[in-house]
Amino acid sequence: TAKRPKKPSWLKVKLPVGKTYANVREIVDKNKLHTICESGNCPNMGECWGAGTATFMILGNVCTRSCTFCAVATGRPPEYDEKEPQRVADAIKLMNVKHAVITSVNRDELRDRGAEIWYQTVRKVKEVSPTTTIETLIPDVKGNWDALYRMIEAGQEVVSHNMETVERLYRPVRPQAKYARSLEQIKRTKDFGKRTKTGIMLGLGETKDEVYKAMDDLVENGLDVLTLGQYLQPTKKHIEVAEFIHPDLFAHYKEEGERRGIKYVESGPLVRSSYHAEKHVNV
Ligand code: SF4
Ligand code: SF4
Repeated sequence: TAKRPKKPSWLKVKLPVGKTYANVREIVDKNKLHTICESGNCPNMGECWGAGTATFMILGNVCTRSCTFCAVATGRPPEYDEKEPQRVADAIKLMNVKHAVITSVNRDELRDRGAEIWYQTVRKVKEVSPTTTIETLIPDVKGNWDALYRMIEAGQEVVSHNMETVERLYRPVRPQAKYARSLEQIKRTKDFGKRTKTGIMLGLGETKDEVYKAMDDLVENGLDVLTLGQYLQPTKKHIEVAEFIHPDLFAHYKEEGERRGIKYVESGPLVRSSYHAEKHVNV
C-alpha cells in the first residue's frame, strides 16, 4: 500500500475545555439534540463550542446516504420527532446564538425529504429568537424541488448545499449524489432569491484544474460563498486522505475563487462549511 501522508502541524487544534463549552454540552444533551460538530468529529469543537456556538443536525442522526467521508451512521432512520423544531429553538435561545447554523441528515425515504420539519424548525427559531440570523445547510433533495422550496421559504438568511468534492470524485466520495443535480440545487436556491453557499473538501486527490472547474461551474450557477477546508478521515473505515494541502495553496484558492467571480471564499485547513458562518450573512 502507498505511504500515508503524515498530519502536519497546521492542523493542531484547541482542546475542548471551559465553562461555555460545558454549558453548550449541557444544553445539547438536555434538549436531546444532535450536532454535526460531534457526529462529524469536527476539529473545531473546542473553538466553536467554547465561543457558545454549535451546528444542530435535525431529522435524527441516522442518514439514508453513505458518503464515504462522513461519520454519521447510515441506515433506515426511525420516524422523526415532531417536537424537534421546538427543542432546537429552545436550545438556540438558551445559548443566545446570534447566528445559527442548522443542517440535517438525508431522508431520501420521506416523500417530502423532511421539508416540513425543516420549515417548522426555521420558523420556530425565528419566532423564539427574532434577531437571530439563520443558515440552513440543506442536503441533496434528489431533485424534489418543491421540497427544496418549502425548506427555503421559511425566512433563513443563507442557504447552503455542500458540493463536497470535484466532479470526478463523486463516485468514490458521494456515491448517491450527482454533481449536476447539486449544482442545479444551488442554482434554484439562487433563483428563489436566497444567498447561496457551498463547501468543498480538499485533500481527496483532486487536481488544481478540477478545483478551478468546480469554481467556474459554481459561479455559473449563482454561488455567493464558497468554503474550502482540509478533509480529515474520521475513522479508519472512511476514505483516506490523499494529501494535506498547504495553507499557501488554500490562500491561493481563495484569491483564485474570488477572481473567478465568487463573492466570498473562506479557505483554510480547518475551515468547515459552518466555521465562522456569521461572516457569510452579509458578504
Ligand atoms: Fe461545529 Fe461547524 Fe464549529 Fe465544526 S466548525 S465545531 S461543525 S460549528
Ligand atoms: Fe453524511 Fe450528509 Fe452524506 Fe448523510 S448525506 S452520509 S449526513 S454527508
